[in-house]
Amino acid sequence: MPDISTIGAVLGSLKTATDIAKFIRESDVSIERAELKLKVADLVSALADVKMELVELQDTFASKEKRIRELEEAFQAKDSLVRRYDAYYRADSEGKPVGVPFCLRCWENDHRQRQLVHDAKEYRIRICTNCGHRYEGRLAGDIQPTNPD
Ligand SMILES: [Zn+2]
Repeated sequence: MPDISTIGAVLGSLKTATDIAKFIRESDVSIERAELKLKVADLVSALADVKMELVELQDTFASKEKRIRELEEAFQAKDSLVRRYDAYYRADSEGKPVGVPFCLRCWENDHRQRQLVHDAKEYRIRICTNCGHRYEGRLAGDIQPTNPD
């Protein structure tokens, strides 16, 4: 994936293109036609590099924007999740954990809400479908509302 150094590459390619254009502008009228064609070919090549590098940067910016949106959503949801034992839960109106468990590891490491599911073979084990982490069911079980009304 391109990173901040790609910007340096774009600037380098632009400098190359500018230098070639300056050389052509400042050349004596007697510049050989063959040499001129060669320089123009170099110029086109340098501009093609710039274009390619900018496309890479465009992709990078798009994926970074997506990740920022995810983090913003996680940040807004931050106070709504509360921990009990080995999992996180949504909070009820009194701030107590309730409902389905979310993966502690995914939430704490990546700020992603991922529900835990029962392991197909061992029912007492809860498993995260995202990171594969396994939890002891009684430490990461569903929590029924205390006062259902
Ligand atoms: Zn997980």
